[in-house]
Amino acid sequence: MGNLLRSKTFSVVEVLTSVDIVYDRKWSKLDKLGAFINTNALIMWREKGIGCIVCGITGAFFAKERTPGYGSIYNNWHLNLYAVDHDGEEILMTQDHVVARGNGGEDHVRNLQPMCYPHNQKKADKDMTVFLDKIKVKKKQKKQKQKPTDQDEKVLPRSE
Ligand SMILES: [Zn+2]
Repeated sequence: MGNLLRSKTFSVVEVLTSVDIVYDRKWSKLDKLGAFINTNALIMWREKGIGCIVCGITGAFFAKERTPGYGSIYNNWHLNLYAVDHDGEEILMTQDHVVARGNGGEDHVRNLQPMCYPHNQKKADKDMTVFLDKIKVKKKQKKQKQKPTDQDEKVLPRSE
């Protein structure tokens, strides 16, 4: 993502079983790994798992990263969770607010769910049920479009 500097990577288990020390309202520190982590995200991943609630893609590793420069917590080493898709691309895993903050949703783990960055972008401020319905409609339309005729069936390539 962007121009983040990366120091090293850790296994999911290594991070989720690390002792965390509350640093401030938003961040915790994992002293042993020398990095900060978003407290809500850590609790969410521990309690609700590391798979995107929409597509199921699952976090594969944590990267210890920081933005260049000074003045923000993001300039300190902190941990981001990444999944890896079929093309080998890294996908950032994020926390989604079930009820968007803009709609009064609280910034608490009971209102959070794990979601990949692309789906979080698509969902934006939409209500979860509205968002899932939209995705379902899209999938249905795709299916109907791709529905093969009897003649096509024999030459259809197998999906991987
Ligand atoms: Zn997803």
